[in-house]
Amino acid sequence: MSDIPIKKASTVSPPIAANKPERDWYVHEWMLLAFAAGMMLLIYFVAQHEADVGHAEIVRDAAVVEQSITRRLEADQQFFDRLALDIAAERISSEEFDRIAGKRAIESGYITDVLRVKPDFEVMRHAPGARSLEIVKRGRAPFADQVWMMSLTKKTARSTYSHPFRNDQGRFTIEYSAPIMSNDQFQGSINAVILFDELLDRSAPEWAGRKYRIVLSDTTGQGMTNAEAMHIESGVLKHTVPLSLPWRDLQITLVGAKPSSLLPNLTLSTAVLALTGLMVWTLIGLRKQQRMRREAETERDRVYLKSIGDLRTTNERFEKVLDSLDVSVYVSDLYTNDVLYLNTSAQEAFPYLGVGRNASTLEDGFVASPSSKYPADALLTPEGEPGEVFKDELEHRASHRWFLTRTRAVRWVDGRIARLTTLGDVTDRVHADRIRQTQQDKLTRTSRLMTVGEIASTLAHEINQPLAAIANYVSGCIQRLKGNGSADMAVIGAMEKADAQVARAGAIIGRVREFVRTREPQRQPLNINALVRDVVQLVESDDEERALTCVLRLAPNLPLVFADQIMIEQVLVNFLRNAREAMQHLPPLQRIAVVRTSRLDSHFCSVDVSDSGVGIDADAAKQLFSPFFSTKPDGMGMGLNICRSLIEYHEGNLTFEQNTPVGAIFRFTLPFDEGHVG
Ligand code: ADP
Repeated sequence: MSDIPIKKASTVSPPIAANKPERDWYVHEWMLLAFAAGMMLLIYFVAQHEADVGHAEIVRDAAVVEQSITRRLEADQQFFDRLALDIAAERISSEEFDRIAGKRAIESGYITDVLRVKPDFEVMRHAPGARSLEIVKRGRAPFADQVWMMSLTKKTARSTYSHPFRNDQGRFTIEYSAPIMSNDQFQGSINAVILFDELLDRSAPEWAGRKYRIVLSDTTGQGMTNAEAMHIESGVLKHTVPLSLPWRDLQITLVGAKPSSLLPNLTLSTAVLALTGLMVWTLIGLRKQQRMRREAETERDRVYLKSIGDLRTTNERFEKVLDSLDVSVYVSDLYTNDVLYLNTSAQEAFPYLGVGRNASTLEDGFVASPSSKYPADALLTPEGEPGEVFKDELEHRASHRWFLTRTRAVRWVDGRIARLTTLGDVTDRVHADRIRQTQQDKLTRTSRLMTVGEIASTLAHEINQPLAAIANYVSGCIQRLKGNGSADMAVIGAMEKADAQVARAGAIIGRVREFVRTREPQRQPLNINALVRDVVQLVESDDEERALTCVLRLAPNLPLVFADQIMIEQVLVNFLRNAREAMQHLPPLQRIAVVRTSRLDSHFCSVDVSDSGVGIDADAAKQLFSPFFSTKPDGMGMGLNICRSLIEYHEGNLTFEQNTPVGAIFRFTLPFDEGHVG
């Protein structure tokens, strides 16, 4: 994870669909149309297929029906042919004929009458069959068709069938005629009257009757009712097969029960259509949903792009700010100290540092490394969260530069807690502090030396007088003793020793004065305004105890003064210190001293320090310059005394006055450097 610095974040391409080619399946209008058309086509083909299948089936079924009817009629033909033979051979009596024929007719269910007809077509016997048990006589003359048929039977001596005709009840029938031939003589015929509808009912298979409307007719259509003819006319699924009988061509037509072959299965079609409708409806809904989703996605992408853009801008801003900082910033793993991120400043300052490298290589260069000083535990709270910030000023051994280091724990972009270290180069400030400290030390030392020197000088001056008097008295005494001729040499010797000691004391004092005088002013041309600025910088402080604010009113273009820098600094420090101490009772921010430089005349300038402190009362004013005069509990009372001496060394003078409304003004004057007075 060490390669996810913020720096690389900008190279990550946005994982979004903004420029993504449209690959989503999408419902178009043409798809709906194509689907609907496809379904219709499917229905059509299914219908077509069903029609084909239905047609094949009806052809097959018609053949079966035809066979079963043919078989039944053939059996009847054989029966009646044989009956005709038996009658011709007179093997059966008339009564037997009635019985056998009647039985056959009743059993068949479709033979209404069996007649024995004479050669002149007169009905000789009549065996009632399926029609009824009531005796029906052929009362009227036979139909032309029957006459024609019987003539044919007679002529050909072969069995024949009549044309279809309606019987006396209006039902279509056909008559079968089997010749009775005896010695090649036509002896009449046996005629069986067959009802079409009953024949079909009995001889066609039961399933066929359920499945089809079966119509029997001759090839001209004779034999079928008008209703049947219309039914055939309107039927879509139909098939006709010939039924060949002796001398008569009939046909059987099967008409399918289905009203239309185009919609062979209404339930299936309805279901398919309903499903298609449902599908189309679903697709429309889906399409609507997709459109909404796409809109939402587009909106989301837009927001995402914008937020990515915002994020990138923020990131760039963040990087720019971090990289333009003078401070080196790096983030390292809390435990391993491997660098996770570093800014440009850190990279430039420590070229051997980089992402993935260990920060200890850098930190080892320090007198004390931040990571060893502040291990993980120190940076975390007891709850394991980032804790306090640790600050340090550390010297980097190799470069001899000083850094203000801040170490703290932060929650890093990947969620873990990392160590954030900042290194601000404070070498210049540290050096300035040091110089300032050295100067302050020097000033303090000088001040102390001067004080000691002044004391010594004062003492020497004060003691010199009495010593000189003692020396005078002692040498006077010796002269007197010697002049009186006193023999007390011991006294004289003692006096001479005292004189020598006095002389010695004088010499010591002289040497002390000499020693003190060795610090003669070392005068040189000085910029007094610059000196004032330097001193003010040293003395100003925002520390509550020693707080002092200086306001500078410096005269421009002042010539250089001719003075000893350290001594004048000493005087100014003394003035400012006294001013601060006089304002000690004021709140820190109100302790304000005004330092003013001004040109007095062509030879002198003045420097004065005004304060708004306690001021100087009349009593104090009298003895202000006396050695050891001080109103402060720990004051030495030598400051002003020494200052006046120092200024007088420089041929200037030191004065003071009351400030208005409160406080005091202390002032000293200094001569300009002759060479610079213009
Ligand atoms: P010290 O500061 O050790 O007392 P100084 O000689 O510097 O010795 O000062 C002598 C005295 O003069 C001080 O104790 C103080 O009473 C008085 N004095 C000096 N400067 C001021 C001032 N700016 N305002 C009021 N009093 C002052």
